Amino acid sequence: MKVINLSALGFCSGVKEATNKLNEFLKKNPLAYCVHPLVHNHAVQKEYQAHLLPYQDDLQYPTIISAHGLPINHPAWNTSHLDLTCHKIYQVRDLIVQKIKEGYQVIYYGDPNHQECRYIASLSPAIQITKDYQQINSKIFLTCQTTADDLAFSQFALQYPQAMLYNNTCSEVNSRLKAIRSIKDGIVLVIGDHSSANTNLLYQASLNAKNPTLLIETPHDLQISLDVLKKYQIAYLVSATSAPSEQIEQVRNYLKTI
Ligand code: SF4
Repeated sequence: MKVINLSALGFCSGVKEATNKLNEFLKKNPLAYCVHPLVHNHAVQKEYQAHLLPYQDDLQYPTIISAHGLPINHPAWNTSHLDLTCHKIYQVRDLIVQKIKEGYQVIYYGDPNHQECRYIASLSPAIQITKDYQQINSKIFLTCQTTADDLAFSQFALQYPQAMLYNNTCSEVNSRLKAIRSIKDGIVLVIGDHSSANTNLLYQASLNAKNPTLLIETPHDLQISLDVLKKYQIAYLVSATSAPSEQIEQVRNYLKTI
C-alpha cells in the first residue's frame, strides 16, 4: 500500500511551543498541577503523567495553563503558574478587547464548552460564544474559535453582512482541512484521539468530502479495519495538531506490513 502524507503531520506550532516550554519548566519543577489535560491526546498525557497532577488550590505546586487558555477568574492565575496559552489566542484576545472598547458586541463562533471559548467568554459579558444566529442591534465584531472549520465559519458569517469580520481560524488547521478536501482517490487515515475536537473536525471534514476515512488512534484500529484498508491502493495520512510523532510512526510502521 502506498502511504502519502496529506499535509504537515504532528504537533502544530502552538503545541510544539507549549511542550518545549513545559519540558524546560519541569527540569526545575518536576511536579505541577494542570487544570485541563495538556492536550487531548492519551500518548502525550501518558508521557507527562508522572509530572502533572490534577489541579488543587493548596499552592503546593505551580500550575500549568494549557495551550487553549483558562478563564481569567480561575484562582490558578493568582498562584505560581506557567502560561502555555497559544500566541494565536492572545492575538485575537487583544483584538477583541480593543473592539469592545470601541463599542462593539462580539460574536465568537465556536463551541461554548471548548476550553478556548470559555477563556474568551470570561473576558467580557459583551462576548457571545455561539454557533447559532443571534439578533444583535449594535455594532458587531464577528470572529471565531481558532480550531473552527473555516468553511462553516464563512457560512455562518453570511448571516451578518453588517458585521466587522475577522477570520481567526488557525492556518495550521486550515491547511490540513484543505488537503483533506482535495483528494480524489484512496483512503484518508486521520490520526488522533477520539477525545480531541481537532481530530473529530478533520475526520468529519473528510467524511463530508465523501472520502473513505478512518479515525486511527493506535495500530489496533488499523488491525480491526484491515478488510476496509485492503480495498485501497493509497492511504493518505493526516494528523490532529495534538498527535505526537511517535503515534504517527506507529501507524506508518503498521501500514508497511500490509
Ligand atoms: S491549533 Fe493553532 S491555535 Fe490551536 S494551539 Fe495549535 S497553533 Fe495554536
